[in-house]
Amino acid sequence: MVKITAAVAVKPKAPLEFRELELADPEGNEILVRTVATGICHTDLLLRDGIFGPPAPVIPGHEGVGIVEAIGADVQGLRVGDHVALSQSSCGFCGDCRRSHPMNCQNYTQYNLTGLRPNGKKALLCDEVGIGSNFVGQSSFATHILATENNAAQLPKDFDLTNAAPLGCGMATGAGTVINAMKPEIGQTIAVFGAGAVGMAAVMAAKVRRCSKIIIIDLNEQRLAMAKTLGATHAINGRDPDVVEQIHALTGGGADFGIDAVGIIPVILNTIKCTRAGGHVVLLGLDALGKDIPIPLDLMVFNRKIQGAILGDQIPQLFIPQLVELNQAGLFPFQKLITKYPFEKINEAIADAEAGRVIKPVIVFN
Ligand SMILES: [Zn+2]
Ligand SMILES: [Zn+2]
Repeated sequence: MVKITAAVAVKPKAPLEFRELELADPEGNEILVRTVATGICHTDLLLRDGIFGPPAPVIPGHEGVGIVEAIGADVQGLRVGDHVALSQSSCGFCGDCRRSHPMNCQNYTQYNLTGLRPNGKKALLCDEVGIGSNFVGQSSFATHILATENNAAQLPKDFDLTNAAPLGCGMATGAGTVINAMKPEIGQTIAVFGAGAVGMAAVMAAKVRRCSKIIIIDLNEQRLAMAKTLGATHAINGRDPDVVEQIHALTGGGADFGIDAVGIIPVILNTIKCTRAGGHVVLLGLDALGKDIPIPLDLMVFNRKIQGAILGDQIPQLFIPQLVELNQAGLFPFQKLITKYPFEKINEAIADAEAGRVIKPVIVFN
């Protein structure tokens, strides 16, 4: 057992509350990680607001990085002292895991969203309230995390952990969508709607894949300017009435690829409409969860493809080290997106993120 301090979501829109709790020792393939940093992602706020995941009270956080402090008896690939970035968890034995798509794991809910450990036990001891844990296989808004070997990717020890936090979700999602799901050929074109962390990661990955036109669309002029420093070749303000026409003009008839990293219906429809016949669209924004998208059938006739790509369809243990490699080569400079806060200021960090003042807040633990 280890004593921890956690920031707990208690009710929608309310500030997180700090609680002193006791975290169980790792069993089986579990690992105990001392948290060095965690990103704050929009999905944590959907959890706080009761839109996604187990009900409050619950510990959010799913971009945890840290140092392995203890391991369960069945852990094979990690040792005490290893540096890890945590991502979404998976079982390792279902059909999708065996087909190398662990982000689709058929046991996804059991491993990520029950508020309990995958083995069904409580992670938090002596907790009479029943605070949920193991959100996305971690619950990283706490000084220690009980994760599993399956959702931990090892990092080189010379890589700054306080910069590594967004790798497990935001960076994996944006970059994985381009590199794993879209696989553009050299010279193809892409439009990315939404210049948040996920959209910026997609822009950087599109540059890595040598896309010839990388078009970013957002309402925030500062973010559009930043996207251009990261690889966007063109920027369009989303308030323009002719966004789709501008993209068709820039790409000679429509982009090869379109990414929605916003999640509201009109933007999703523009993402589809801006692609050419045969275009490939990936929808990543989650704000319209539970709603229907009215897609004109005319848009589907000529081999357009629309898909989701949760966590960039990655295998964390393979993909996160690839992103580190790109970063160290100067090709994926995602630390430019980060604003760091001490753990005590987590509510300030969330407020700044919700107001659009920062792109990727990262909480750093002492
Ligand atoms: Zn996330
Ligand atoms: Zn599985």
